[in-house]
Amino acid sequence: MPPLTDLVACPQCDTLHLAGDLPVHARAHCQRCGLVIATSRPTAIAQVLSLALTAFVLMIAAVSFPFLALDVQGRNNSISVIEAVMAFDDGIALLLAFAIAGFIVVLPLVRLGAIIYAIGPLVRGAPIRRGAKAAFALAEALRPWSMAEIFIVGVSVALIKVSGIATVTFGPAFWAFAGLVVITVLKDQLICRFSIWQALEQQPH
Ligand SMILES: [Zn+2]
Repeated sequence: MPPLTDLVACPQCDTLHLAGDLPVHARAHCQRCGLVIATSRPTAIAQVLSLALTAFVLMIAAVSFPFLALDVQGRNNSISVIEAVMAFDDGIALLLAFAIAGFIVVLPLVRLGAIIYAIGPLVRGAPIRRGAKAAFALAEALRPWSMAEIFIVGVSVALIKVSGIATVTFGPAFWAFAGLVVITVLKDQLICRFSIWQALEQQPH
């Protein structure tokens, strides 16, 4: 039985594999389901870091700039995500507002912040920060709960309905959110959890 630290489980089907050093630019697939378990691209961690930083900036823009403007019979109204969340101010709607703000803004920001905190020093080859492993584990645990991309799909569906009765103009924040969705997908594709964990384990504290 090899030591536990040499084993890696497929994130999809839990099949155990023996971890070895990959040649540069190679990929390791799961033997049972074919999922890519590890890739070895020296620049991958730097790419993930730059995408996470980009997403962080886009997220700030997405919540602070006007999200959309409605024009109904000459009356124009524009609103940002923060203003929309603050508009719910009583009873059960307030709870809903907190939930929306949490899932589409706070959790994604915490997740991005945790990734940047954990892998930032790795890119420079510096010793890892205190709690970097916990931060990366937190980012992984939050992955199913950060829902910025689901929000943009929901909003788009609602807007198609509204566009029948009012003229809808998308503000800068809408495009920031749209960019954010693309960046998030790219980042989650590029991220090789196995090599990041390995790098975190190997670096001195
Ligand atoms: Zn598998």
